[in-house]
Amino acid sequence: MDIKTTMDTYVAASYGRFPLSLVSGKGACLQDDCGNEYIDLGSGIAVNSFGASDEQWVAAVTAQLATLQHVSNLYYTEPCAKLAELLCTRTGMKKVFFSNSGAEANECAIKAARRWAFQKYGDESHATVITLKNSFHGRTMATLSATGQDHFHTEFGPFLPGFVYADPASPDELERLAAENACCAIMFEVVQGEGGVNPLSEEFVARMKAVAEKYDLLLICDEVQTGNGRTGQLYGYMNYDLSPDIVSTAKGLGGGLPIGATMLGERCEKVFTPGSHGSTFGGNPVCCAGALNVLSRIDDAMLAEIRAKSEYIISTLTGAKGVKFISGMGLMLGIESERPAGDVIKGCMERGVLVISAKTKVRLLPPLNITMQQLEKAVSILKEELAK
Ligand SMILES: *Cc1c(COP(=O)(O)O)cnc(C)c1O
Repeated sequence: MDIKTTMDTYVAASYGRFPLSLVSGKGACLQDDCGNEYIDLGSGIAVNSFGASDEQWVAAVTAQLATLQHVSNLYYTEPCAKLAELLCTRTGMKKVFFSNSGAEANECAIKAARRWAFQKYGDESHATVITLKNSFHGRTMATLSATGQDHFHTEFGPFLPGFVYADPASPDELERLAAENACCAIMFEVVQGEGGVNPLSEEFVARMKAVAEKYDLLLICDEVQTGNGRTGQLYGYMNYDLSPDIVSTAKGLGGGLPIGATMLGERCEKVFTPGSHGSTFGGNPVCCAGALNVLSRIDDAMLAEIRAKSEYIISTLTGAKGVKFISGMGLMLGIESERPAGDVIKGCMERGVLVISAKTKVRLLPPLNITMQQLEKAVSILKEELAK
């Protein structure tokens, strides 16, 4: 079967795909349908936290799959109980709502903030959410409305009202928007992923905290990409002096299965009441068993390893020929290159290394457990391609 032709014929044309059909993998090593091998520095966009077909993860998932695959939220299950407890104990958050994707986790965060404000003011007067320019929060209508990038909006209007956008380079604009609008929350990524792997400055984060305090706003941290060890801390906000009221996550949490989680802190832990929000698949026992395995393995030793690998990449590529600068944290890095990112990506792919892009940058999101040997090999090829 010609996989590419069949998919191009029958799958909606919403993606620009690389001409590569992947069939199997182990850890950071992937194979295509011609038997070629690749070192994966993309992890399925920060999803495969422990790479492909990780043994422990497969064992946890298949054991649950063979026991009970789904019950709905009409009943209780142990994997869901254990995962919610672990998320709360490791973050200090109070409650978790489970869904199936990053967009849904953010949808829940937005609903939680609006309901919190409604319960406080008795009406919809404080429904506005401040988000950031260049952000990415998802593809559903609400999360697309929250996304501060015009090009994602093209031909999809009208959008959900109640979003205003602040420039992360301008703390004053943030303050002005909070003063001019009746708001309930500020929503942000600590490292803007799709926006080009741009971390927020300490100064901006400090002002966000001050503005939230002054105007009584919730801080919603979108950790869909930055979460679950990716930045070298369990959640990206832990790199800052910051305690968000709501944290959404997905991607790497499931290690390759679809799961989203929205964590609620003490200011809004009681916002949802029976029937007020829901998801048929949310908290699915198989996805929770996978996530429980992933999360329980991201301990201090693993986080230190992630930071060491990050240091290795940064020190090897900083100042290298063709590299303008490197941004990001942990194993979420962006390389601004002299060659167009697309050419570097293509060159790497032809030599057996998979990297992706973010705006004008080459983006690296390797599996957290990539071996140093694999990383050294991949980075040396990347370095040569950057230098061309
Ligand atoms: C990927 C991403 C989303 C959307 O997640 P989906 O699972 O594709 O819905 C939302 N926010 C951020 C920061 C992301 O990186």
